[in-house]
Parts: sequence; structure tokens; C-alpha cells
Amino acid sequence: MSVANKVPSQLLASLHARRREMVEFIRQLVERESPSFNKRAVDSFAQSLAKTLQRSGARVRLHPVKEFGNHVQADFAATSRQKPILLLGHMDTVWDVGALKTMPVREKNGRLFGPGVYDMKTGIAQMIFALDALPRPVTILLVSDEEVRSATSRPILEALAKQSAAVFVLEPSAGLKGALKTARKGVGEYQVKVTGCAAHAGLDPRNGHSAIVELARQIERIAAFNGARRGITVNPGIIRGGTRTNVVAAEAEVEVDARVARLLDAPLLDRKFRSLRPFDKACLLQVSGGINRPPLERTPAVIALFRKAQAAARELGFEVDEASVGGGSDGNFTAALGIPTLDGLGAVGEGAHAHDESIVIAEIPRRTALLARLIELV
Ligand SMILES: [Zn+2]
Repeated sequence: MSVANKVPSQLLASLHARRREMVEFIRQLVERESPSFNKRAVDSFAQSLAKTLQRSGARVRLHPVKEFGNHVQADFAATSRQKPILLLGHMDTVWDVGALKTMPVREKNGRLFGPGVYDMKTGIAQMIFALDALPRPVTILLVSDEEVRSATSRPILEALAKQSAAVFVLEPSAGLKGALKTARKGVGEYQVKVTGCAAHAGLDPRNGHSAIVELARQIERIAAFNGARRGITVNPGIIRGGTRTNVVAAEAEVEVDARVARLLDAPLLDRKFRSLRPFDKACLLQVSGGINRPPLERTPAVIALFRKAQAAARELGFEVDEASVGGGSDGNFTAALGIPTLDGLGAVGEGAHAHDESIVIAEIPRRTALLARLIELV
């Protein structure tokens, strides 16, 4: 059955009629567990998706990865010569194999619960059901390492994005109203390590230079890098140091989560970290890390895509809003290349990475219809 060339109300009705089929498909995806660090599990997930995509008429290729699961690319040709749309998503979840034992897939009060159902296996199902027939070329890329920073998938998704007219990211939407994500912060991590000088705390304290005391002073400085107005956040999240209470600590370190709303703030923040100097000249400071996911900025191209989504949703009889969020996704990489990117087109639900992770079943048909319409309109 074709979803293309249908008037919006027919499109929605045909997807609504397939709602149970979609829920069953999502259940199968969730029951096939796929944690980022379990290559074998993600490979088997990828293999089964590859078969499904092949049956839908795609040319499928697996990108082999050594340390994580293989990425899946599916190209759907079409008669039109337009540039393709890239549909981007990830197969990996933060849930270990066996999570299903404590959080089995279940339906309750119109919700479907289960590990990875919201982030983002429902989004994968939406892609597949939106693509029964296509008005233009579409490439699907499902990566295996999004939850662990996308190091192996980044070159592939960037290359595909550069050939595409637009990128739609099927990550979960924001909030229970299903807002699309038109801005995401850039995300990174810094480590600051202090080397001091150990000494006996009782016999010889003057010869000691405490790495812990030095680090404590540095952390105050780092916390002052926060800039709410510019959308810069730094969070010293983990500290380590010292060996015993009666020893002046020789070593201490802090790991800091860092986020920026604007690309131009990344080098500024980096310079601040790199110019930290010790208060106690006998201590040594080492700074490493950086922003590894650039921000997805709300550029005119992003806004234009969002307006099209708004119009498409209205035709289908509902409203979508936009939201800016602190967390990053692979959409950050494609947006930073200047490719129009719209994120949060996936499931409506809540509880990403949490035990009550769930999606709203009634939203599946219209979210899928919205995706299908957007592919036609852009
Ligand atoms: Zn995700």
C-alpha cells in the first residue's frame, strides 16, 4: 500500500488502520535488545532491520565497525532526480541485555513501555512505515554508537548529509506535546588533573602541596565559566583525588560536562579551560577534552524546515511546537555542516534512559504521517 500521493486525511487514515501492526513491529524491535557496548546484540538487530529494509525495496549496505555494531544504510531510489532526504537514527540503547527482565514490553493506559521504546526504536518504526512508497530518493542511516558519542558513525553520516537536501532525525520529540527540536546544545567534556606534592600530613606538612586544595580552587573558577544568558553550562560532575587522610594529596582530578548553545562559544570556552593556571605554583595542571558535538543552532534553514513541518501537521489536523534542548544528537553534526536539519521527529513519550521509558501509542500514526508528508514537501 502506498502512502505517497495521498491526500493528508487518507494518509493519516491508512496509517491509523495499521496502528496495531506498528505497535507489534515496535514490540519486536524493543524485544531485540541492542546496548551500545554489545556488538553481537546490535549486529543481530542491524541484520534483522536490514532484511526488513530490503523487503521494502531498499538497496541495503552494512558499514562494518570493529568495536560497536555495524551501521545500516538503506537507499531508496525514486523516479525523481531530487537530492535525497537523509533519515537519521540510532539502533543502540543505554540498556544492557537482560533489562527486559525487569522492564518487559507492556501496554498500559495507552502507553507502550520498554527499554529503548522512546529513545529511539519507535522512531525507526516510523521511518519504515512512512516509506511504503516514495516521491523522492531517501537514505536511511541507522547507527550503532549514538549513545556513546558516534565516533565511528560520524564520518559516514556527515558524508551522507552533504549529499542530501535535508536531514530528518527520528530521535524522540520534546515533552508530551511532541515538540520538534530546532536547537540542541553542543556537548563536550573536560578533564582537569592536578599534580601536587605528597608529604606526611603530621610530620612534614610544609613540604606538601595538596592537589586537592588546588583542585578545589580550580573548580570554583571552572564553575564561574557558566553563562546562562549565552547558553553555556559547565558542570564539574566527578572528582577524584587523594589516598589517605594523613597524606597531603599528590593527585586530584575533575571531569566536567560542558555545553554551548552557539558554535562560536566553543573556542572561547576552550580558551578559558586552557588558560587555567595553578594558584600554588608548585602544582601542575593538565587540561584535556573539548566540545565533541557542535550545537544544532536554530538557523534560518532550520526554521524554514520547522515551518514546513508545522504546515504539514496542520493539514493532518494537529499542531506541533518547537523546543530547544540541552542534550545533543547526531543531528548536531549534520546541522553544523550547514545541512538543514530537523530533529525530534520520533516518538511522543517520556522517560528516555529511565525505567519508566514509554511512548504514547495514539501518537504513532500521525507522527508517521507527518514524516511521510515532510519527505514529500521538502
Ligand atoms: Zn537517542
